[in-house]
Amino acid sequence: MMARRGPRFTGRVALITGGNAGIGLAAAHGFAAEGASVMIAARRRAQGEEAVAEIRAAGGVAAFVETDVTDARSVREMVAACVAEFGRLDVAYNNAGITGVVTTEIADADEAMFEQVMAVNVRGTWLAMKYEIPEILKAGGGAIVNCSSFAGLRGGPRSSAYYASKHAVLGMTKSVALEYAARNIRVNAVCPGLIMTDLVVNGFAGAEDKLAMLTARIPMQRTGRAEEVADAVLWLASEESSFVNGVALPVDGATAV
Ligand code: NDP
Repeated sequence: MMARRGPRFTGRVALITGGNAGIGLAAAHGFAAEGASVMIAARRRAQGEEAVAEIRAAGGVAAFVETDVTDARSVREMVAACVAEFGRLDVAYNNAGITGVVTTEIADADEAMFEQVMAVNVRGTWLAMKYEIPEILKAGGGAIVNCSSFAGLRGGPRSSAYYASKHAVLGMTKSVALEYAARNIRVNAVCPGLIMTDLVVNGFAGAEDKLAMLTARIPMQRTGRAEEVADAVLWLASEESSFVNGVALPVDGATAV
């Protein structure tokens, strides 16, 4: 019989973009509960400080750094702040993302919205990996988990910017996994299904019919919980998945099947 394992991230440092809300916040709690020192990076300071306080109250170690992932200097400073605070970087969950408008066909869609979705979801994930990887190499290797979506695995009407951005996250996940496979950095992605976070509640405001349609199509007949995605992120970031590399792992109740 296998002995029960202890905390999976003792002595490790985990950086989470968008760790002050929703799925990222659930992951921040999960990493901290398993022994990691957690650096939360996002734009809203108040929510970030609140997350840090919650983690510390639960006995964990955490700090917050105000970050805009669309801005290269801010992302560089995010990584530097993590290393200054905790001395190293082992694991990153690049989770920050926005939906943009999910109710408009491409002919009527706004170009600025497209640029913004790409800036956060694609450029933000690319910049994060670019600046995280040198520090993870210094630590002797580690793991990166990027956040794609079921929208990275299939098409969907009236959301072409978002779906394109989440396909792009998978393209860079697989490519960067290949680049660093021989240097002890694994790069994987989670593809969450519908999770009732602010992203969905606000993103589908005024489009409740579309949300109801998407929910009805989930084969497991329910939306997911942020903690269910966080559990998959922790597994992909841990040694338990030590030979899993370059994958897009759906956590979606069979939505993308
Ligand atoms: P939330 O809206 O709850 O959280 C989004 C997070 O991203 C916030 O912490 C936000 O913090 C951060 N963020 C947004 N823009 C930036 C930016 N420019 N710089 C830094 N941080 C930023 O959404 P979810 O938790 O639902 O989403 C998390 C990820 O999961 C996203 O990538 C999303 O696309 C993906 N996803 C979600 C699904 C769902 O159904 N909820 C389904 C599939 C994928 P702040 O505003 O303070 O910067």
